[in-house]
Formats: sequence, structure tokens, C-alpha cells
Amino acid sequence: MSPKYDLDKIKFATDPATFERAVDLYTSGKVTKFKEKEGVNVYSAVVQGGQPYHVSVEARRYGCGHCDCYLGKKSTLCKHIVAVALYAVMDGQPLSDEDKKSVNNPTSSGHLGDLTKEELVTIKKAITYGLRYIKPYNGPSRLWFSYQNSLQEGCGRLAKIVSDLPVNKKTAQILVTLLLRLDEKLTRGGVDDSDGTVGGFIQQVVEILSEYAELDPSCIETFKILAGRPTCFGWEEPLVRLVDEG
Ligand SMILES: [Zn+2]
Repeated sequence: MSPKYDLDKIKFATDPATFERAVDLYTSGKVTKFKEKEGVNVYSAVVQGGQPYHVSVEARRYGCGHCDCYLGKKSTLCKHIVAVALYAVMDGQPLSDEDKKSVNNPTSSGHLGDLTKEELVTIKKAITYGLRYIKPYNGPSRLWFSYQNSLQEGCGRLAKIVSDLPVNKKTAQILVTLLLRLDEKLTRGGVDDSDGTVGGFIQQVVEILSEYAELDPSCIETFKILAGRPTCFGWEEPLVRLVDEG
């Protein structure tokens, strides 16, 4: 069967460093002896790393698999598992430069522009969908890695949306609201962000908003709501400073 996930899913649900290493393995032909095991929906391959690693990957769920490397033995999503998943979704075909780009870091589009009402509605829905992956942690600890992948995927999906936004006051407002929703999840929503995935994302969005303020100073007005509001780690400070200076 073909995998039940695609390249976007792999990008969103993998941390950027592991994704890049997996792309290197895949593009340099290190995934060998790729086979589909009939009837059990599992792919297997031998990945030539420091030594040959025996890898199996499920076709139904991304991130489920086995690898006999050091990380794989600890049930961590390693670059070998990701490389074999890449082979499965690409059917062994080459990746384009666009395909190789990791999307997990949000950036500012850097261009001023407006959005239609319909576009705004679509974006807000996509944000709500991405936020669903940033959910409370309820244990047990053997689910920790799949939990971390879920946070990663939520931030990845949000990063893609954020990076595509044109710069204007309305999109600044959307980003401020997104930050407050994430803050709520960290402070009261039971999200366990001990490896800093969500916190890092928040900081990157704050940097993006500072850039918005330079391109269009009217965006600063949307930061006013942050003044005097306690947040989980004081991320709002650079934005409140812009309000004070304005
Ligand atoms: Zn491995």
C-alpha cells in the first residue's frame, strides 16, 4: 500500500535538524534494499550510516517504526526512520529544492499586502487546526516522543501559515492573538513544553512582529493588549517596549 502520510506530514512532524539529515541520507542513496512487507503495511530498508542500520517503518502512521541505531533503540524518531519514510512517500524519486526545505521555522514574508475577508477566515481556521496539535500532556512516559512530535507538528503547521502572511495590521492582530492562545496553553492548558518547542516558536513570532512594526508602524497598536499582562516567560517585553516608545 502507499503510505498514509505525505511529504508535508514528514516535514511538519520532524524537527528541522533530523529532517535535514534524513534528506541527506535519502538524496545520497543511503537508503538501500527498500521493500514493502506484504500484508503487514510495513516498509523495511537498510540505511548505510556509520554502519548499516536495519529500519522498518509503518505505512499507516508516520513516526512509528524501528531502527537499531542508538536513538532508534530508545524509540526516538531518528534520521534513518525519516529517510526510509521519505523513500516511501517519494517512491525513490528525487526531491526538488522546494521539497528539501524544512518549514518548521516561521519567517516574515517581508512584503506589505492585504487579505480578503475569505482569506482571513481560511487562515484563522488553519490556525485553530494547527493549535489542536499543541495539546495537554497526560502521560504515560512511553508516549513522550509521540507527544513531542505532536507539538513539533503543531508548530510546523503554524510556521507555514505565519510565513505566508503579508504584513499589515490585520495579520499583526492575528499573530498577537496566536501568541496569547499559545501562552494560555503553556500557562493553564497543561502543555508540557520541557524541550522548548512551543516557547521557541513564540519567540520567533515575536521577532517577526518586531519586523512587522518596522515595515508598518500601525501594527504597533495591536501590541497594546500585551502591556501589563503576565505571560509565561516574559516574551511580550520587546513588543511592549515598541508601544512605550511609540
Ligand atoms: Zn536510526
